[in-house]
Amino acid sequence: MVDFKVNQKTEQMQQSMQELLKANLELKMKSSLDSLTGIPNRRHIDEYIDGIWDEAKKKNQSVGIAIIDADFFKRINDNYGHDAGDCALIKIAEMLAETTDGVASMVGRYGGEEFIAVFYNRNINEVLKVLESFRETLERLEIQYKEAVLKITVSMGLAFTIPKNDLQIRDLVRKADTKLYEAKKNGRNNLVYVELNS
Ligand code: GH3
Ligand code: MG
Ligand code: MG
Repeated sequence: MVDFKVNQKTEQMQQSMQELLKANLELKMKSSLDSLTGIPNRRHIDEYIDGIWDEAKKKNQSVGIAIIDADFFKRINDNYGHDAGDCALIKIAEMLAETTDGVASMVGRYGGEEFIAVFYNRNINEVLKVLESFRETLERLEIQYKEAVLKITVSMGLAFTIPKNDLQIRDLVRKADTKLYEAKKNGRNNLVYVELNS
């Protein structure tokens, strides 16, 4: 009788422990995803690229970081409202994930109307090709929002390297950002890249 009660208690404890672990895992998953678009958020991406960088250094593999920023996005909000802007952001995230699938090791929302794509152990031509295909797909896309049709383009900066010496992953992100700035200056809806021999 006593044994039975002890067993029952142990079972109950194991069950609540499992439920706790499951809830914890779900919470962790949720806190790593952007609530609007459902793709990884900045916090998660930052953790991920630190890991990728260490791995690439050990294995002498390439890393590419593309920063992607929606062009004249403020106009979408101004002309059609904030919800229309949200709808466009969801569409950009969807297209980015879809078109880079199998080539990018992760894509995420870096904040606001800015996204990121991470490439690991890829050849630069492959990366350029997939980013160009994303740019073209988006350019052609007509986003239906209520009675309106929204058109959106992106500018992109890519920094690519095989990590050596003192270069840090944050430096690579900064380089990608500099190239994005150049893409904006070049007239937007284009990609500027740099290949570093760190
Ligand atoms: P540029 O081509 O130079 O990048 O121009 P831009 O208008 O895209 O850039 P700017 O930084 O002037 O404006 C970004 C806009 O993105 C302003 C901000 O309200 C909007 N935005 C950022 N996050 C969100 C969001 O979650 N939802 C919506 N609807 N708008 C957002
Ligand atoms: Mg921006
Ligand atoms: Mg923008």
